[in-house]
Amino acid sequence: MQKKAIFLFALGWVLLSGCTVNNNPHTNNDLDGTITNDIQQSSHVGDNASNQKRDVPITDATLPSQNSKTRTEKVTHVMIHFISNAGVKPNDPYNAKDVYRIFLDYGLSAHYMIGRDGEIYQLVDESRVAFHSGKGNLPEFPTYQNKMNEYSIGIELLAVGTRDEMLSMMSGKTYDSINPSDIGYTDAQYRSLNLLLETIFDRYPSVLRNRKHVVGHDEYAPERKTDPGSLFDWSRIRFKQTNDEKRMHVVEQGESLWFIAQKYGTTVDTIVAANGIDPNDYIWVGQELIIPGKEGAGTEQPKERSQSHVVEQGDSLWFIAQKYGTTIDAIAAANGIDPNDYLLVGQELVIPE
Ligand SMILES: [Zn+2]
Repeated sequence: MQKKAIFLFALGWVLLSGCTVNNNPHTNNDLDGTITNDIQQSSHVGDNASNQKRDVPITDATLPSQNSKTRTEKVTHVMIHFISNAGVKPNDPYNAKDVYRIFLDYGLSAHYMIGRDGEIYQLVDESRVAFHSGKGNLPEFPTYQNKMNEYSIGIELLAVGTRDEMLSMMSGKTYDSINPSDIGYTDAQYRSLNLLLETIFDRYPSVLRNRKHVVGHDEYAPERKTDPGSLFDWSRIRFKQTNDEKRMHVVEQGESLWFIAQKYGTTVDTIVAANGIDPNDYIWVGQELIIPGKEGAGTEQPKERSQSHVVEQGDSLWFIAQKYGTTIDAIAAANGIDPNDYLLVGQELVIPE
């Protein structure tokens, strides 16, 4: 009995590290009914054109419907979180099934979860509201107070924060038994998060590419939450458009230069300069505008060809590096690309010896 109480106590602490949702009406989950809803390894590419274009492999791990609800508001935000099972299993904090069990048992959810190797799980369809943010406030969006779930897509990264950030969720002794390599975030997680965000920006022009629209749980609920915390490097989140097929924008009805600049995370002046137009000029529906992106990438030819790999659906730099027994950085350097760059299906990569 006492043992069980200690276990539940510990699990309760773990929940604090994730996304406890106050006033969640769905706290009475039927565990028996959800046990079969385990993580399915049926990997698929998102069924939407943007996803196909970006080629983000996503594992379907949809939570039962009581872990989410119908969405009625427009999505304008993404909220970043961390979660782990470190409070219960400090030596094995990232077992996806254990974390999935936390969501199941407590009626919580997020739309996506990103594992340590960058694997992306879809837990809730974006068309539904996930229970990840709870009570809080963003000063610039006062009407969203305590209602962030309605307006956001929640992304959980499997990660553990600093000792100070975690001490409200577990004992110092437990924290100290966590392997240091399990603390903080992995390169693969940043890569996958950027890929996922790119598809979200594509699907929701109302999610602007900036820090006001991609926020941390700790910014929304600073008194209660420490995730994603100080170990999360926001400078690695790419808000700028890269040089891909999105370099041209076709003006649609109702758009202004300001709106277009916001959409691509650039400025009116930059667009105006790139297109040789006057900022006071009219733009018209159907007009094609150049959207300046990162210069140079992809134009340099590699000097020595040893072997090459043509990117296939589902490939990641990590996967390709593993396959050829090399590293992500070596491939990135050989191809003059950023390790965080997107891979396109059909793209040819030089694989260094
Ligand atoms: Zn959170």
